[in-house]
Amino acid sequence: MLPTSYSRKPIVSLMTAGLIAAMAVSVAAPALFRLPAGIPGCDMPIRYGVGEIDQRFPLDRKGVLAASLEAESVWERGLGKDVFLYDPQSPFRITAIFDERQKMTTEARMLEETVASYEAESAEIEKKRADLLARYERDKKRFEADAEKYEEALAEYNAEVAKWNEAGGAPADIYEKLEDTKKELEEEGRRLTEASEELQALAGRVNALAKAMNTKAGAVNENIAKFKERYGDPRPFVQGLYVPPLASIEIFQFEGKDDLRLVIAHEFGHALGIEEHVGNDRSLMYYLMGGQDIAAPSLTEEDVAAYEAVCPDKTPSKREAIARYLVLTARKDMDLMEFLGILLR
Ligand SMILES: [Zn+2]
Repeated sequence: MLPTSYSRKPIVSLMTAGLIAAMAVSVAAPALFRLPAGIPGCDMPIRYGVGEIDQRFPLDRKGVLAASLEAESVWERGLGKDVFLYDPQSPFRITAIFDERQKMTTEARMLEETVASYEAESAEIEKKRADLLARYERDKKRFEADAEKYEEALAEYNAEVAKWNEAGGAPADIYEKLEDTKKELEEEGRRLTEASEELQALAGRVNALAKAMNTKAGAVNENIAKFKERYGDPRPFVQGLYVPPLASIEIFQFEGKDDLRLVIAHEFGHALGIEEHVGNDRSLMYYLMGGQDIAAPSLTEEDVAAYEAVCPDKTPSKREAIARYLVLTARKDMDLMEFLGILLR
């Protein structure tokens, strides 16, 4: 709308002339005005959506979106500007593709659980075994002492009997005493036999527990061996991939929200146009995960410098500003006062 106040009139006429002139040029020679259109991530936020997330991943679409929004804010806090915008309609999408990499992560997690439960269980069995073993040792010592006494008493009795037999028989009172001793010895012999059987049973229980532990250890070792056979020794692998230009971010592997946020933040950096990795291992754009603060990631100086190298924070020239306004603003949205501001800058 044209301002009508008298005082503004001279400015209005000047601006109108400028606008008409600029439009005339852009119609006559549009190529002249194909100045750098807004660079996504530099001059306007990159719009992204979340695509298919295979259900075998530990997070669903909602979880991946939450991690993405957090990855977005890591960049935006660090740069102090809006560089990403979640837009469900955007063709640039984050997807999670399930393959050997995530399968390995899942199986490694399961193996860790198996080993942990084996350790808990075997600690319990080992305690039980140690208790039984202590009882066995104690009972065995007592048994051996009793048995030794019994052998001595038996030998003494046998010697006494032999002596009286040699003498052609014992007097009645001695005979009776020897008969009593014989009965006592027989009883002690029975008791010792029972004790010995109990000891055998106890030893059997101790051995059974040891065997159970060995069987479990064998099963766990077999699981570990199978895992190693299938996946080899642990090695770094690509967790995510940015497919240019703003086509997609593909996620291959993550353990949970924390490492996913870091993976997405790294791939976001590539989406911003950072092609080279940086040298500081605390940087998002370092080539490996590990040195960064995984729970609370932030940009390092190197990350910011890498971004600035892609998006120099330059003020567009007046010519660029005019061209950009004309190219990027729909005719119906054009505002004369706004255009005047650019023109008279
Ligand atoms: Zn990378």
